[in-house]
Amino acid sequence: MPEAPERNPPEPGEAAESCDVLVIGGGPAGATAAALLAEAGRDVVLLDQDRHPRFHIGESLLPRNLAIFDRLRVRERIHALGVFKPGAEFIADSTGEQTVFSFAEGLDRRYTHCYQVPRAAFDAALLDNARERGALVAEATRVQALAFAPGGGALATAEGPEGTRRIAARFVLDASGRETFLASRLGLKAPDKRLNTAAVYGHFRGVVARTGEHEGCITVHLVEDGWFWMIPLPDGVMSVGFVSGPAAFRDRAGSIADLLFARIAASPSVAARMRDAQLISEVTATGNYSYRASAQWGEGWMLIGDAFGFLDPVFSSGVLLAMASAEMGAAVADAWLDDPAAGRALARAAERRLRRSMNELSWLIQRINQPVMRAMFLRPRNPLRMRDGLISVLAGHFLYERPGFGVPLMLFKATYYLMSWASRLGRPGVGA
Ligand SMILES: Cc1cc2nc3c(=O)[nH]c(=O)nc-3n(C[C@H](O)[C@H](O)[C@H](O)COP(=O)(O)OP(=O)(O)OC[C@H]3O[C@@H](n4cnc5c(N)ncnc54)[C@H](O)[C@@H]3O)c2cc1C
Repeated sequence: MPEAPERNPPEPGEAAESCDVLVIGGGPAGATAAALLAEAGRDVVLLDQDRHPRFHIGESLLPRNLAIFDRLRVRERIHALGVFKPGAEFIADSTGEQTVFSFAEGLDRRYTHCYQVPRAAFDAALLDNARERGALVAEATRVQALAFAPGGGALATAEGPEGTRRIAARFVLDASGRETFLASRLGLKAPDKRLNTAAVYGHFRGVVARTGEHEGCITVHLVEDGWFWMIPLPDGVMSVGFVSGPAAFRDRAGSIADLLFARIAASPSVAARMRDAQLISEVTATGNYSYRASAQWGEGWMLIGDAFGFLDPVFSSGVLLAMASAEMGAAVADAWLDDPAAGRALARAAERRLRRSMNELSWLIQRINQPVMRAMFLRPRNPLRMRDGLISVLAGHFLYERPGFGVPLMLFKATYYLMSWASRLGRPGVGA
């Protein structure tokens, strides 16, 4: 188990404030964990370096999120600020082939929709909820250093509008997102070379949106060397992003905005929807973005959400993984405060579960650009409810929780290997 770092460590005994749990970061992971722990009666301090509401990428949510919204009692608020999302559409740019996975057809019929959300309002709503449940939330306050005491507990130094704050905490949850506060300082962060993609994105008006029964769906446009997302947001705004491997970004001429516009123009299915589109935001890029920490927890600390790991967002899994790992992190912290041995046992089980869930999803993501996988997505068949099982995975049931849910995915994998083998022998695809 790695030891916690000391960088500009404060002197012991310097703390002016104390709490049971310090949460670093107020995105979906931090706000979820803080709300649950405060509701359980714990003394929680959450520090976020941003001032909310603020923009964040990650706007398409999954039906399995609804269970967590219910637990947090925020479903109505999210319903009010988001666009109803009934499913996910996939389009092959080269052939125009198209399929829509409707969440209502998945194996789990309890959660058959979700929402596309402006993250500024979504994150602010979750943070407000944490405050209302009793967490002490400070915005514009950045954690600068963390020192762990030999006998347990930690001392954090943070800078905010009130100047320097020193806070003693019995347990620390790191929810610092892609900044990976602890994983970077502990040398735990490892890039996932198999998912070495980057993204460029912006918000537009005037993009042709889906109507009728598919209104509100995310569209994934599969192009030769990557994919586009189109996520409909409130007030006629469309979030558009392009994701590809390093070559597309390395070999570009001009700015990242030029790259986005060139890629839009080169994709017949995307260009057709964006003929009258106007850019209404900055164009932003995020590079080399898949990674995982080699350990999720240690003595008195745990990593949740993107602070632990991040997967390519083709299946819109980030916010769900952040909130689900926050539920696990809150349970671990709560148990640890009463009995560290029980906390360790729970942390071990939580890490196993999270890694297994992320591995299942990685398996699909790594193959999304391969012809056999694309054929299975665009011409899905339903023997032994394989298609329904895939829909359940797309709805967020890659989190290991209910026995039996893994079976259709196993069949899906077996079919994929069979079809790949057949295509190598030059035979027609088994399921296509
Ligand atoms: C291109 C792209 C597209 C994506 N699309 C989707 C999608 O469609 N659907 C989806 O579900 N997910 C998507 N994601 C993933 C999603 O953005 C994240 O998984 C999600 O935001 C993780 O939540 P979090 O709470 O762990 O981290 P974050 O939301 O990043 O929150 C972390 C917070 O911690 C704060 N912080 C950092 N360091 C400190 C510090 N030292 N002190 C105090 N505060 C600190 C940050 O300012 C931030 O507010 C996408 C990601 C990318 C890169």
